[in-house]
Amino acid sequence: MRLAFRKPSVLLSDVTFCGTEGAHRGDIKIRANKIVSMSRNLDGSKGTLRAEAADAVALPGLVNSHDHLDFSLFPNLGHGPYANYIEWGDDIWQRDKSEIEAVLRVPMRDRLLWGGYRNLFAGVTTVVHHNPYFAAFDRDYPVRVVKDYDWAHSLDLEKERSHIRAGRRPFIIHLAEGTDALARDELDRLHALGALTSKTIIVHGIAIQKESLDNVPKGAGLVWCPSSNQFLFGQTADIKTLATRFRIALGSDSPLTSKGNFLDEIRSARATGIATDRELIAMITQTPASLFGLQGLGNLEEGGIADVLLLDRQGTDPWESLWPATQRNIQLVLKAGKPMYGDERFEPLFEALGRPYDRVNCEGRVKLVGGKFAKLVERIERVLPEARRKISP
Ligand SMILES: [Zn+2]
Repeated sequence: MRLAFRKPSVLLSDVTFCGTEGAHRGDIKIRANKIVSMSRNLDGSKGTLRAEAADAVALPGLVNSHDHLDFSLFPNLGHGPYANYIEWGDDIWQRDKSEIEAVLRVPMRDRLLWGGYRNLFAGVTTVVHHNPYFAAFDRDYPVRVVKDYDWAHSLDLEKERSHIRAGRRPFIIHLAEGTDALARDELDRLHALGALTSKTIIVHGIAIQKESLDNVPKGAGLVWCPSSNQFLFGQTADIKTLATRFRIALGSDSPLTSKGNFLDEIRSARATGIATDRELIAMITQTPASLFGLQGLGNLEEGGIADVLLLDRQGTDPWESLWPATQRNIQLVLKAGKPMYGDERFEPLFEALGRPYDRVNCEGRVKLVGGKFAKLVERIERVLPEARRKISP
């Protein structure tokens, strides 16, 4: 006979969260990987782990719509501004070859893992990875990686021409990444190839011209990566105009070109003043959930997947706590109900649902990290000693 041990439910009690009619204060009850109820004074008796969260706000786990998880250990490389992405690639291979080769000595599995942790420490629970999907994402990986996608690098650097086509799955391609004629023509070229459909999701779009927008079908998406654009080209995409035709999501891009982690990217986006706070929130939650077909994600709701981010409460509206937040302010991250990163006071949750985990110091606050994080850091440092400053949460 097999004995089935039922895992305890979790009750996050007295937390502030965003409901359909604004901010609420109440409890969130989670069973297995789902949110089962969100209400006041929920029953937290038998078989329930109660976690007090009166000083926290609850947001949905964030969605980062563009990263290259295998590039996670690179520093910023580039000496821009450049005219387009090809110029940048050629330049860094010429000037920074030894730096690139040093990072590539870290085994792929560890670079990928670090990419997952980088996102987790920024409150991200779902990442859209640009490059081939790796088997490592399926087992004990810190964040969820979108699996159902087709991709091509870009119109000029994609080696397989046959990859430049939009089928039934979301089709992701870097496009119009630059400021010159080459970048400007790319949307028209994509259209001429028949690869601009309602399933197409382009990344960057800096050089897109208003006249080319007529060809954009309803439903197509665009991922905005403001800090990467700024670093390489000294400017970013005209999101206000692009939003008239594209559904917009936000992506960090890789640390080769981005300013920091996903929380920093959100601040970079907000600092442009191009999007309202409400638009920005949609770009990191509901819009990517819809673009990439992520059912039950991007929103806190009964019946939804329990990707929950608890942050130190700062201000009255729950989202106000996000804008200044650093990884230190993240009290807890649950991915599908499993604690992955959080403050020491949530240790009973980690003990019951999140083993193995490690204890690390984050800007003077002790944090618990799910998985074998300390061993990962040791392995990386053995190959890349100078990584020290980058690999603490
Ligand atoms: Zn990219």
